[in-house]
Amino acid sequence: NFRCRSAFKLLEIDDKFRLLQPGWSVVDCGAAPGAWSQVAVLRVNSAGTAEGDAALPHGTVVGIDLLNIPPLDGAHFLSSHDVTDPVTHTKLLELLPNGRAHVILSDMAPNASGFREMDHEKLITMCLSLIDLAEKILQPGGSLVCKYWDGILAHKLQKKLSSVFSSVQTLKPNASRKDSAERYFLARMYRKPVKG
Ligand code: SAM
Repeated sequence: NFRCRSAFKLLEIDDKFRLLQPGWSVVDCGAAPGAWSQVAVLRVNSAGTAEGDAALPHGTVVGIDLLNIPPLDGAHFLSSHDVTDPVTHTKLLELLPNGRAHVILSDMAPNASGFREMDHEKLITMCLSLIDLAEKILQPGGSLVCKYWDGILAHKLQKKLSSVFSSVQTLKPNASRKDSAERYFLARMYRKPVKG
């Protein structure tokens, strides 16, 4: 039983792209109430519950949210933490094996003001901050999935992502309401930016 219907979006994305492998480390940004983390725990086998092969490696799931996230077997939660705060980044470096994540997931969203343009801008800014987080913790070759609301700044985010990921594509899962502006960027094959 999933805590929230949003689980089906991540299941759909992962069924198609196989981003979450047993043994891998995942950071789930904006994790409350924890449905995406539930999916991640199953797929990376962090609770040792994967069906079939008992010898499958155990991964790591760390979830972060401003809100409280109820405990979940196989996940470590940083409740009352801001994803954009450097203090959170430091804690992530300590929690992740070798300080590295294979995948960063973000289903984060600001509280909607109802002003579409403003909400769009806010969420894009949050997504851009994930690029800084990636620089600190994402394994070369790693992936990022981030939710955004479509609008004028989407291509700016796409361009920034394309500067550090070899492959960037837009996803609209079937489980996402057709009439919503919600989209996801799937960015794969991370390469650290070259400092000039
Ligand atoms: N993926 C979650 C699940 O499946 O249970 C649902 C996530 S919900 C759509 C968005 C979450 O993003 C909210 O719980 C909100 O508190 C969180 N959020 C928004 N801004 C944040 C920030 N700066 N740092 C951490 N979490 C944030």
